[in-house]
Amino acid sequence: MDFDIAVIGAGPAGSTLARLISEKFNVVVLDKRDLNSTASTNFPQGKNCGGLLAPDAQKMLAKFGLGLPSKILAEPQLFSVKAIDLGTGLKCHYQRHYINIDRQKLDAWLLSLTLGKIQYESNSFYLSHSDSSEYCEVSYRKGGKVKKIRVKAVVGADGANSAVRRITFPSKSLRRYLSVQEWHETGEATPYFSSIFDSQITDFYSWTIPKNGYLILGSALKNPSDIFSKFRVLKEKLRKHGFVFRENFAVRGCYLERPMNVSELAFAKGRTALVGEAGGFISPSSAEGLSYAFWSALNLAKSLENGISGFSERYIKNSKNISLNIAGKIVKSPFMFNSFLRKAIMKSKLNSIEVLETET
Ligand SMILES: Cc1cc2nc3c(=O)[nH]c(=O)nc-3n(C[C@H](O)[C@H](O)[C@H](O)COP(=O)(O)OP(=O)(O)OC[C@H]3O[C@@H](n4cnc5c(N)ncnc54)[C@H](O)[C@@H]3O)c2cc1C
Repeated sequence: MDFDIAVIGAGPAGSTLARLISEKFNVVVLDKRDLNSTASTNFPQGKNCGGLLAPDAQKMLAKFGLGLPSKILAEPQLFSVKAIDLGTGLKCHYQRHYINIDRQKLDAWLLSLTLGKIQYESNSFYLSHSDSSEYCEVSYRKGGKVKKIRVKAVVGADGANSAVRRITFPSKSLRRYLSVQEWHETGEATPYFSSIFDSQITDFYSWTIPKNGYLILGSALKNPSDIFSKFRVLKEKLRKHGFVFRENFAVRGCYLERPMNVSELAFAKGRTALVGEAGGFISPSSAEGLSYAFWSALNLAKSLENGISGFSERYIKNSKNISLNIAGKIVKSPFMFNSFLRKAIMKSKLNSIEVLETET
């Protein structure tokens, strides 16, 4: 064997798992990116993400005994979410406790915690793996060459549109969105995260997040063919609500999974397991995924405490808490995404806060 465990993907799920199991196993982490790149990270680099660390994700870091280095923080810090229903024109502010972060720096920091404990292979593009009763053989491309390694187990931590998932669970599909974010350089800070609902744009939601001198405008779209017209309409509508967008902006897109049924979640089969968004572990109501990346990594690490033999079965058993949590979010979703229920809630002003100024 070349290694005990190959982790595919050095995002929050992969790095966290690697760190948690590094004492017991000989681990290699492959990533198509180079997270150690020292290029400036002020502007949209790294994973296309809103970079809001929700309380559940903060709680997971606390469970790991970790605090957040200040270099990861972005400006401004936010204390509320503004829900905007473009259909009814209703707006409400709710108190929220997110931490606004630089996502690229978070990923680099999480990986740095594994330094010297695992083997990290950057610029390594996972191609496929075979899973037999005795071992797995992983093929990946690095520096123009196809390499092969033999390991006792493979973990897919390769995020949305996971190739490891496609190979291991070819018939398990997830509802998939193309999530696009425009970065507008702007002096006008909107000191809140806004979640924007409009059935003309998407059946999920759109958002704005201020970050380090930029206003991010994002949306999760079902049909990739009409992105430009959807964004044009969205911006026209939001300008009427006072938002300022520039003519020149950077744009990034990537897939986003949205589990609509717990049967779509995939945990493990044979010698292969999935963590993070690769398994479909992400909130179907808010698209918050960092807490699930950490949580699933912890569940898998616990399942590996007694060795590799039988770890898949233990992981599936240990992950009932995640299935139950996501099932709860699926049940809750209509209160956000059914226009009638949302209108009733927003009109009631239940749990909302009155905001006196910065009325964008
Ligand atoms: C636009 C957008 C905004 C979001 N905003 C938030 C937010 O504000 N807060 C929040 O909690 N969640 C947010 N999410 C969700 C969150 O980003 C993900 O759920 C989270 O990143 C999942 O972590 P992960 O480690 O499972 O996967 P990822 O972070 O996607 O990491 C996967 C890793 O695998 C690597 N990889 C992929 N394919 C291969 C391959 N073939 N070979 C080698 N390496 C590979 C990638 O380079 C990457 O490093 C957002 C998602 C999107 C799309």
